[in-house]
Order: sequence, then structure tokens, then C-alpha cells
Amino acid sequence: MISDEEVVVWLCDEATDLLEEGVGMGTLEQMLERVSLECRRRALERLVQHAAEQQALNCPRCRKALHVEEHGRARKVNSTYGLIRFTRSYGFCPDCGVYHYPADVTLGLQERAPASPRVQEICALTALRAPACQVQTDVRRLTGIDLDPSSLHREARRQGERAMALREADVALSRTREGVVELAARACTPAAPFTLVMEIDAWNIRERDNWGLSQRLREAGADTGRWHWVYTGTVFRLDQRGTTASGRPVIAERGYVATRTGLDGFQPQLYTEALQRGLLQAEHVLILADGAIWIWNLVADRFPSATQRVDLYHVKEHLWELASELFGQGTEQAKAWVTPYLNWLEHRKDGALDVIEGLQGLRTTLDRFTLAQQEALEREIGYFDTHQHRMDYKTGKALGQPVGSGAVESTCNQYQRRFKLPGQFWSLEGDEAFLALATLHRNNRWHQLFPHDSA
Ligand SMILES: [Zn+2]
Repeated sequence: MISDEEVVVWLCDEATDLLEEGVGMGTLEQMLERVSLECRRRALERLVQHAAEQQALNCPRCRKALHVEEHGRARKVNSTYGLIRFTRSYGFCPDCGVYHYPADVTLGLQERAPASPRVQEICALTALRAPACQVQTDVRRLTGIDLDPSSLHREARRQGERAMALREADVALSRTREGVVELAARACTPAAPFTLVMEIDAWNIRERDNWGLSQRLREAGADTGRWHWVYTGTVFRLDQRGTTASGRPVIAERGYVATRTGLDGFQPQLYTEALQRGLLQAEHVLILADGAIWIWNLVADRFPSATQRVDLYHVKEHLWELASELFGQGTEQAKAWVTPYLNWLEHRKDGALDVIEGLQGLRTTLDRFTLAQQEALEREIGYFDTHQHRMDYKTGKALGQPVGSGAVESTCNQYQRRFKLPGQFWSLEGDEAFLALATLHRNNRWHQLFPHDSA
């Protein structure tokens, strides 16, 4: 057995051989990494081989014994220490009708993919920050791994597809009674009654059809890009909301949903996330969003007993726009007209009704307005009429609840910082995988993809 001290002496000796005068500490750090790299690679190779030999030859799906086809089938894997070679057994499961390599499953290796779990994780993490072509150099600097951008992208996307599969498995649970109980049991909820808050919004992602043909299509004058909605939601307990020392609002822990699979995809995902955040245990559920009608249809359908609230700032904008339309943008008259309306809305119990009454009162003076102004007035009366039961801001404030959907708006901004870079297009299949990966990361479920993360 050699001692730590002997290892230290060996490392120093190896490094000193490479030493030049005037060397910086960064160089020394890199040197120690390099001289011990081959030892670590060989140690990992040996441990992996050992693990493969210990592996029971059962079907990873149904656990039944496999009909072994071959012992000692070779595989190569790219690890953070370099190329690893090992051999393992594989066999056929007659029940599932599939060939399996049980050691690969246990080790966390994916079929026909060269990356070790740590390399998979590095690709996934960096792809969340920036496009592969931009992070390649930094990955090499930080980890010493040299991955070309397409390998990095491909590996990250594979992890995104795994994230999608995990998400789908949870959504499938939400469709059965036992599954709902299982999802609800994951919620970490306080003993005291609590309010669950959900905020919903949407933003656009830019996609491109006909990959590879875009040059020709552009020359033909065709638009190769296309905008697609990403429906987004965030879920948190009211008691998890607080402020930083500088007064900035923060939410200690919350769930996220983001998908471009349409409302049919979004609705069950939001429900699944809400179950895992305490939907069934909550005494009270509050949903905030802007006035978009698809949101409120979804809420009525899926969360019928929740309190609904339209974002106060959107509503105020409606009043300001009407004031500009009727009395001129930025005029004293517009400001004088709108001020009492804003006050009623925010501070009176039935402020929305007062607003509607006030607006209806303007109808008696219609001869003062142009046709366009009259239409704007009627449109806003309709808007307040539709949403008045979602405008009880006074009660909301008294209960310490949010009156705006700022939390989901900041969520959308955070996604857009990665998914809406200038000149960036997403492929139809690729973007959902990366959205699922980004969302799993935000939801603190990284360990589901990379079990070593919880170690
Ligand atoms: Zn099986």
C-alpha cells in the first residue's frame, strides 16, 4: 500500500520534470491535472470493468433472467479522463423480446452514444447556457475535454430527449387515480393551511422548417423562419414568496412548465407540476395571468375551483391606452381622466364594477368622440365585463397575494435569454427536447438524469 505522501512526491516529481522558470500557478494546476490524467483514466477503466463483471444478468425492464448471448462484448466510452474500454455481457429477454446490456444501463451509458455520464452532464449543462459552437472552447478550458460542437449538441439533445421521456412518464401518472396520489405525495408541503399560486403566460420561439434547404428557399424569396408559441407556467406556495435584503421579490422554491406542444401538451404538464407542488393539499389555489382567453379557458377546464386574477399591470395598461385614445397620448386631460379609474381598480372592493359604470357613463357623451374612439370604448367595456370577477385586487393585497403575474414574466424572460438569441432558429424536434432539459434543470430534478448528482 502506498501512502498519500508517496503519491504527492510522485506527482511533484512528474510535474517538476516539465517545470520551466517563471511558471505561474495556473500552469502548475494544469500540469498536475495532466500528469495524473492517465492514472485516473486507467483507474476508471478498471473500476468500470469490475462493475460490469459484478452486474447481474437480468432484464433491466422486467427483472427476469436474460438468455445470455455473449460474454465479453467490447465497448468504448469517452470519459472526462479520456477513452475507456471495457467488456460486458448481453442477453435476450424472451418476455420483452429485446436484447439488453444490463451493465450499460447500470453504468448510465446510453445505446450507441459515446459519452460517459459525466460527459453527458457537461454537454447538457453547457448547452443550457449557450449554443454548442460558443461553449466548445470553454468546455475544453474547464474540463480538458475536446468535443466538436456537433457532438456536444447531439449529446445535449439526447439528454433533452431523456428529460422529455421523464416528463411524459410523470404526465402519464396524472391520468390515473393512483398516479395522482403518487404525484401528490412528492409535494413537500407545510402542516399549516397554504395557498398555491400558479402563473401562466406564453412567448414565441423561432423555428425553421426545411433544414438544409434554407439557402435555396431564401433565394426564392420564401420565409424560412416561423414563430411558435411556448406556453409557460410557474407554480409556488404563497409562503415561499419573500424579498431580498434589497427589497427584490424572490420565491424560495417553485416549479416550472414550458412547452411548444400546444395547449393540449401544456395543460396536463401544468397539472402534473401543480400536483407535485401541493395542488391537492392546498387550502386555496390562485391563478394569475394576463387577459388571454386561452388561459382562462384552460383554467376553467382544469382548475375550476381556483381563484382567478388578471394581472393588475395589464389591466392598468388597458385603461391608459383608452385614455390616450380618448384624450390624446400623454395629455394632462388623459392623466386626469384615468387617475380615479386606476384608484378604484386597485383600492375598492368592487373597483372593476365602478370602472365599468364609469366607462358606460361615457356613452352619454358619444357625440364628442370619433367612430374609432367609440369602438375603443366599447372594446374596453367588453374587456372589463369579461374579466371583472378576476379583478379583486383589494382582497388579494389584504391577503398578501400577488396582484401581478411578474413571476411568470420573469420566467419567460429567463427562457428567452437562451432560446431567443439573435439569428437563432430551432428545429421542430430539437427545441422541445431542450425546453424539457432546461425545465428539468430549473425544477431541481437534475439527479433524475444524472444520479451521481445526488451523491
Ligand atoms: Zn424483460
